[in-house]
Amino acid sequence: MLHRPTAAVIRLSALVFTAAPVLADGPFYGDPPDATHPWAVHDMNRPQPPVVTPGTFSSNDQPGRPPSDAIIMFDGTPAMLDKWEADKTPAEPTKWIVKDGAMQCVPGSGYIRTKESFGDCQLHVEWAAPAKVAGKSQGRGNSGVFLMGQTEIQVLDNYDNPTYADGAAGSVYGVNPPHANALRPPGEWQVFDIIFRRPVYQDDKMVDSGRYTVLLNGVVIQDSTPLEGGGGHRRRSMDRPLLDKGPLKLQDHGNPVRYRNIWMRPLPPRAVNGGDMGVMSPESATVKKMEIAKTLRADAAKLQGLPQLRRSMESLCYEQDPATLSLVQAGITAWISAVQKTPAGEMEAKKGEILQMRDAVRYLMNFKFLPAEFTALPEIEKIIQLNGWKK
Ligand code: MG
Repeated sequence: MLHRPTAAVIRLSALVFTAAPVLADGPFYGDPPDATHPWAVHDMNRPQPPVVTPGTFSSNDQPGRPPSDAIIMFDGTPAMLDKWEADKTPAEPTKWIVKDGAMQCVPGSGYIRTKESFGDCQLHVEWAAPAKVAGKSQGRGNSGVFLMGQTEIQVLDNYDNPTYADGAAGSVYGVNPPHANALRPPGEWQVFDIIFRRPVYQDDKMVDSGRYTVLLNGVVIQDSTPLEGGGGHRRRSMDRPLLDKGPLKLQDHGNPVRYRNIWMRPLPPRAVNGGDMGVMSPESATVKKMEIAKTLRADAAKLQGLPQLRRSMESLCYEQDPATLSLVQAGITAWISAVQKTPAGEMEAKKGEILQMRDAVRYLMNFKFLPAEFTALPEIEKIIQLNGWKK
């Protein structure tokens, strides 16, 4: 009979493992931070992505379930109309209705907008043009989704209904046609998944045009399409400063278009907004690196002994704080001296710790986070050689 470890044995192994020195890989593995990238490559300290429970896909009969962190704008219940108002000044309740789990445009009642405002986001919207076909070109099943109330992603029944291409369903209206006509027949539910990056202005100058990525029924129809400051009817778009946030608006174009399952998820900021995606400005990267170093030093302050030393060493990759630098050099020197006093019989147990320290010190020396005159590395290498571990 095969021996299978019991639960008790497994728990004990785990305990032994975690009881070993806790030495995070930290930044000593990949390239270090540089002038425009605040994180070292593969640094285990980089925050873990938040856990999101994914939703389910929709069918024509059944809207899917949104992901766990979505902000629900419409779930099919009449109470959700409270999140919306007529797009008028002063605001007033909308006359759009909720019927059979769908929010329906009442022609002539005007646009509808969310009371809440949003900037960069992932937006999910499902819509259906009337099953009974009426009108042609722009007059058939026309509505629209306006992010921040500005640029329209066209809603239209052009299933078998030619119109100007930059006004077809999923066009950035007046700016860019969809890459494909992936519509289902009128009356069926169509699914928009929109990734919106707003235009960013600094001192009234555009520093990022913003862009739309749109999937219609799972087909990419806009791929990072740059915004041009809006879009509109008959006129070329004009670059104009926008606010950071705005309401989501849905258009009344005189057709009883229905909507269901509307949710959104705010997106993390781009480098241009102070986020740490991609290449940052040297100023922002420096600020971010100092934040990371501060967090690591605060963490080190709560630790003791070797874990504290390691954490402090990690922080040097992010900021050359003189006090920490002295502490680290003194700490490594003290650690070497303790290792040198270790009885020969106990050295093998320290092999992992010593090799790991050698790698970290070598990394810090290579990337000049420790001064060239610091002599710890040859001393650690000598210990390694004396014990016959080589390399
Ligand atoms: Mg429209």
